[in-house]
Amino acid sequence: MTPYEELFENNKRWIETKTGTDADFFSELARDHNPDYLYIGCSDSRVTAEEIMGLGPGEAFIHRNIANLVNNVDLNVMSVLSYAINNLGVKHIIVCGHYNCGGVKAAMQPKDMGILNPWLRSIRDVYRLHKKELNAITDESKRYDRLVELNVQEQCVNVIKTAVVQLNYLRTGYPIVHGWVFDIHTGRIIDLNIDFENILENIKDIYNLTGKD
Ligand code: ZN
Repeated sequence: MTPYEELFENNKRWIETKTGTDADFFSELARDHNPDYLYIGCSDSRVTAEEIMGLGPGEAFIHRNIANLVNNVDLNVMSVLSYAINNLGVKHIIVCGHYNCGGVKAAMQPKDMGILNPWLRSIRDVYRLHKKELNAITDESKRYDRLVELNVQEQCVNVIKTAVVQLNYLRTGYPIVHGWVFDIHTGRIIDLNIDFENILENIKDIYNLTGKD
């Protein structure tokens, strides 16, 4: 059996495990889903969203792309945000980056990356915003780690800039935005303790889309 064919064997075993402990597992799963969490993470194969959080099917709405970016003109992530909030009613939005992120690393190289240029530009913009702090870090690997963290922080700000988040937060007190870094060396999730209320207050004079003060 080839490794590819094994995937179907794995699937059969997975079905047996699930129905073995809960005979109604799939009929329940097919009914509906209303997850509490929207997870926006990196596409990196080592950072598996549900597994690191200990969640199962139906518990998190997931969006992944290179370097967990929340780009204003990316119809994909904007649709995910809108659907997660307006249709699924998620209570928490998690932006999760990770150390050793290839996307962040690529953005630190002075090189033409072809089609990836506009995508990586968003990370270069994060660097520019925090250039003073980053350039003061002499150890290159520490600077790389810090850019990973600052990228998560800025993507959280990008989530907060959207009308769908602002309007729902005003109406219901949700969603709350969280920034995490997955430490690939230890498996630990580090909460960056993004001050959601404070960010909202700070960017309000420029990015307020609610029509209210
Ligand atoms: Zn990555």
